[in-house]
Amino acid sequence: MGAVSHIDLRSDTVTKPTEGMRAAMARAEVGDDVYGEDPTVRRLEETVAGLFGMEAALFTPTGSMANLLAVRSLVAPGQEVLCESSAHIARAELGAHGAFFGVTMRTWTGERGRIDHAAIAAMFAPDVSPFFVATKAISVENTHNFGGGTVQPLADIEALRPLVDAHGIGLHVDGARIWNAHVASGVPLADYGRPADVLTVCLSKGLGAPVGSLVLGSRAMVQEAVVWRKRLGGGMRQVGMLAAAGLYALEHHLDRLAEDHEHARLLAEACGADPAAVDTNIVVVDVPDAAAVVRAAADQGVLVSALGPTTVRLVTHLDVSREQAETAASVLKASVAG
Ligand SMILES: *Cc1c(COP(=O)(O)O)cnc(C)c1O
Repeated sequence: MGAVSHIDLRSDTVTKPTEGMRAAMARAEVGDDVYGEDPTVRRLEETVAGLFGMEAALFTPTGSMANLLAVRSLVAPGQEVLCESSAHIARAELGAHGAFFGVTMRTWTGERGRIDHAAIAAMFAPDVSPFFVATKAISVENTHNFGGGTVQPLADIEALRPLVDAHGIGLHVDGARIWNAHVASGVPLADYGRPADVLTVCLSKGLGAPVGSLVLGSRAMVQEAVVWRKRLGGGMRQVGMLAAAGLYALEHHLDRLAEDHEHARLLAEACGADPAAVDTNIVVVDVPDAAAVVRAAADQGVLVSALGPTTVRLVTHLDVSREQAETAASVLKASVAG
């Protein structure tokens, strides 16, 4: 699996650092980041906080750890966060928020992972009650991974703000792929940062860095997150080399996400999926037998993943050229047709 001859559409995490990125990593100035002395990490944190207009940012090894620190900052043990039913925090973080921080979740189900304002408003539980778990945060995923790379309209996110403020709680945005949302919608990154109390972003997805995510928020939130990151075993040392990959990715790989989105539409058309449901670089295709499609495509050198028994997911990225996208489209057309 994943050999050079394969076209790998399982995820945008499979990208390998380019020569240019490797050179930038090798040149990076470093120091001990647990002592706060890695200048490249600091530059990355300041750069990303600045892009979103947030006070501060903290580099983490994974998006899962960034989400863990984000939700923990808003929700205490025995309290809850509301999120969409196929949210990454609910489905793909192995119960970490409950296992480590006693956080419970209740979910709404949105069309392709979208925000459902009425459903959310109806879910709130009061702060102090002898019966109900206190609602302390809303979490929104943008783009929504399992929803199919769905862009949450900025107005839908902003419309949560009065609700959040009225209840005195927090808004978390899981922006693992917010870069794709930004490129697809044209919404400035700072506009995506504004409604969020805490924002998480990944460098290791479509941007093509080998490792790295950040959690962004107020200075006080980030100061506390530094402590909790260390407690979780995520205090890292001379990681300026990894931060340099992230800085390189932001400089060279952000605008090109538009190509991935174009390739995703091309794949959707070939598979008979609705191209109008493809906002960014993820295509979710309904098929009679997902495992059979995965096998048939793999036999022809195209790797895709089964999200469920009748759902296949294709993800385009930096390491899929136009020519490879076209080849994959014809292979998948045949595989889906059976
Ligand atoms: C990938 C992803 C994350 C973080 O994943 P890690 O593999 O832990 O870096 C968080 N949220 C979403 C929506 C993701 O797709």
